[in-house]
Amino acid sequence: MKNDYYHTMNEKHEKSSKTDSLVDSFARTISYLRLSLTDRCNLRCVYCMPAGQSGGLKMLEQRELLSYEELLRIIGLVVEMGMNKIRLTGGEPLVRKGVMGFIASLSRIDGLDEIRLTTNGVLLHEKAEGLYAAGIRKLNISLDTMRPERFQEITGADLYAQVWRGIETARELGFDVKLNVVAMKGVNDDEFVDFARLALESPYQVRFIEFMPVGADSTWKTTTYITSSELQKIVESVGTLEALPGQRMDGPARVYSLVSNDGLQGTIGFISPISHHFCETCNRLRLTSAGRLRACLLHDNEVNLKEMLRGGATNDEIRGLIRQTILDKPKGHTLTEAQTNCSGQMSRIGG
Ligand code: SAM
Ligand code: SF4
Repeated sequence: MKNDYYHTMNEKHEKSSKTDSLVDSFARTISYLRLSLTDRCNLRCVYCMPAGQSGGLKMLEQRELLSYEELLRIIGLVVEMGMNKIRLTGGEPLVRKGVMGFIASLSRIDGLDEIRLTTNGVLLHEKAEGLYAAGIRKLNISLDTMRPERFQEITGADLYAQVWRGIETARELGFDVKLNVVAMKGVNDDEFVDFARLALESPYQVRFIEFMPVGADSTWKTTTYITSSELQKIVESVGTLEALPGQRMDGPARVYSLVSNDGLQGTIGFISPISHHFCETCNRLRLTSAGRLRACLLHDNEVNLKEMLRGGATNDEIRGLIRQTILDKPKGHTLTEAQTNCSGQMSRIGG
């Protein structure tokens, strides 16, 4: 008994002193790495890779991406430092060659408690089973419309049915599925009620994301942007929203239970990076597909980890750079409704 007690206390002490190096200058513990595996994508969403940009957008060459070996080394180090959660994103993470083997290797890293994935769902119908076998249980799938023609207008591809099939396959396999809907006035606002009903009638958590002014050639406009408060009012026409306690720690979403007049219950999240930014609780560090560490999605400061890695840096030097990036993490972003543009490229950063 006594031994157990001392053992537990020692473990706690070791864990807290280990994660000390992950505390930033504003007392936030950075426990979560978002990794953009590639800037390439099989879709061309208007808000992420707008036509003007994607025509001339320069994609990274294979050698400019961190190799899987390089990524595993970095992830091994951040997990040793105390991070326990990773999200794979992109571009579209599932288009990168060899991704399934990479995920299998990640799942063998001791101390990495959770691997999550954000995907557009295009390849899910064929990859969901493998992802489940590799230990992934939570998927965020982007779906801004449930109308096939509109899907094509937004993404440039006639693949709505295939994406929906992927979503259903994931549900059947037992994944916890969250559907990410970027809310855009005049584009998909006539479907917010349909999405709220989807949350009531299915196990999917629907999360509305405020449109962010990211990218040098962003299609963001004040007239397209809609705040979460406005969205919330629209959702309330379907039922009553009640905040779910303790959900805040699960990420940037404010999560609510939605109960309809006819007694159905669902879960809705609102992600409000602009109107209600969550900077004070942000626990993330980003690694872009170009191999740069980025402490804030909406701040353009990045440090070139790839260069250091390829220059023969030791593990201690890499840990030092990670530590410094965490210490330099800005208190918050300064974008407002009235102000456009942080110039980073969403598909390289990973959202
Ligand atoms: N390709 C994957 C996907 O679409 O889910 C992962 C990468 S994507 C860049 C990650 C998330 O960022 C998606 O949910 C997407 O809708 C969101 N996103 C991209 N550009 C955005 C913008 N300008 N404003 C808000 N969300 C955006
Ligand atoms: Fe591709 Fe995702 Fe960007 Fe759409 S949001 S273009 S699916 S990376």
